[in-house]
Amino acid sequence: MSIISSILEYNKAFVNENRYAEFQTTKYPDKKLVILSCMDTRLLELLPKALGLKNGDAKIIKNAGAVVSHPFGSIMRSILVAVYELKAEEVCVIGHHGCGMTGLESSSILEKAKKRGIAEDRIDTLVNTGVDLSKWLTGFPCVEESVKNSVHMIKNHPLLPENVAVHGVVICPETGKLDLVADGYKQVNSKKSEPVTK
Ligand SMILES: [Zn+2]
Repeated sequence: MSIISSILEYNKAFVNENRYAEFQTTKYPDKKLVILSCMDTRLLELLPKALGLKNGDAKIIKNAGAVVSHPFGSIMRSILVAVYELKAEEVCVIGHHGCGMTGLESSSILEKAKKRGIAEDRIDTLVNTGVDLSKWLTGFPCVEESVKNSVHMIKNHPLLPENVAVHGVVICPETGKLDLVADGYKQVNSKKSEPVTK
């Protein structure tokens, strides 16, 4: 049976047996939190459980690496929607140890693409039209630094309200242990205590 067929079959029973009932909640995050994390399979259940989150507690955005790579891309838009439309009051970027994006370079992906039948001249065309594949199709050298960079980009976004704390955390994908690498309250408080200059 194909993956999608088996999912659809399971889903029929799930709905018919009212197994959804325990998950019913609203679109507004009860813990007023929006999380950006990695798509890593090990975090699928571990991340919410390790943070004590249940359905309805947080907005969770995921991509490869928990990275904000562009201030006007879909990740930043999602964060702004969570803050302005869905009542999120704090942001938390959660990278993880052993991330597939650590040390990933575009050359590795492009080699695999060529083996899968992507013609070299197509790649050349992208490069010639100004797509910087080495910057776009790439990971990061260090997860802690990557999380801090994303926190910095979110915190300094021109459309983010100043009183929104943006935290940075690294999670262990085996134990779920969290290490705080950027305390968003410090930035919010330091902004508050800055002298007003006219
Ligand atoms: Zn990852």
